[in-house]
Amino acid sequence: MSQGSFDLSGRTALVTGSARGIGLAIARGLAQAGARVVLNGRQTAALEQAVSTLAAEGLDAQGSAFDVADEQAVRQAFQAFDEQGLHIDILVNNAGIQHRAPMLELELKDWQRVIDTNLTAAFLVGREAARRMIAKGNGGKIINIGSLTSEAARATVAPYTVAKGGIKLLSRSMAAEWARFNIQANSIGPGYILTDMNEALVNNPEFDAWVKSSNPAQRWGKPEELAGTAVYLASPASDYVNGQIIYVDGGWLAVL
Ligand code: NDP
Repeated sequence: MSQGSFDLSGRTALVTGSARGIGLAIARGLAQAGARVVLNGRQTAALEQAVSTLAAEGLDAQGSAFDVADEQAVRQAFQAFDEQGLHIDILVNNAGIQHRAPMLELELKDWQRVIDTNLTAAFLVGREAARRMIAKGNGGKIINIGSLTSEAARATVAPYTVAKGGIKLLSRSMAAEWARFNIQANSIGPGYILTDMNEALVNNPEFDAWVKSSNPAQRWGKPEELAGTAVYLASPASDYVNGQIIYVDGGWLAVL
């Protein structure tokens, strides 16, 4: 296979929730592979900072601040892309939040917020992107970020688990409906990765020890370790791969 299969030159990628953490690392990886990247988040200042960071590395980046869980905001963001002549060839549905509480104490508003941000938003943004991919007729790539909880439950994170389980099957639903338009929709399931989302867990010695003893790699993952899989799933190298989930977890789910 030629190296050219992984080349993203001439493509534009929207990575949601990419002001920091895994989203920023994936955006950087896609840009290093040649894509123009559109970063997203709700906080404009953090977003501008992330865009400047990538630009200073010589990468082609711009920002689009909107709330992925707000249907109207998503529609307006894509209308703005249309007006700028920006066509999204690659979408990474990465924005996500966590809320920890035992189910017996979990409030409906918190359940709803986590499901809306981690699952419904991927449908909303995916729908807008796919409508345009189909209209243009050039196919496209959608990567939905799952989790170890796409596969297995863990106490105190029920809505997150349900959302990430849903992400796996959302990718398959997208593949079922859009493969005939040459759109590939796959998921990435990261293991425990060192980001702001996990700050409290990293600083909890018991949890930190549990991660290191349960994972065959005996360490937390780094955000940049997701980038290679994202580039693969965004590139022509994966044109016949659809509806799959690839776990990037140090081998965690593979062992007893
Ligand atoms: P972070 O908390 O570090 O970053 C989350 C990003 O999402 C931020 O840029 C945040 O920006 C943005 N965001 C949150 N809500 C919204 C929203 N409604 N609209 C737009 N942007 C939003 O998270 P991680 O990098 O750790 O996680 C990224 C993804 O990876 C998530 O889907 C997460 O579930 C998943 N994941 C993470 C793992 C880990 O161990 N870290 C493991 C498995 C999966 P802002 O606040 O400005 O909106």
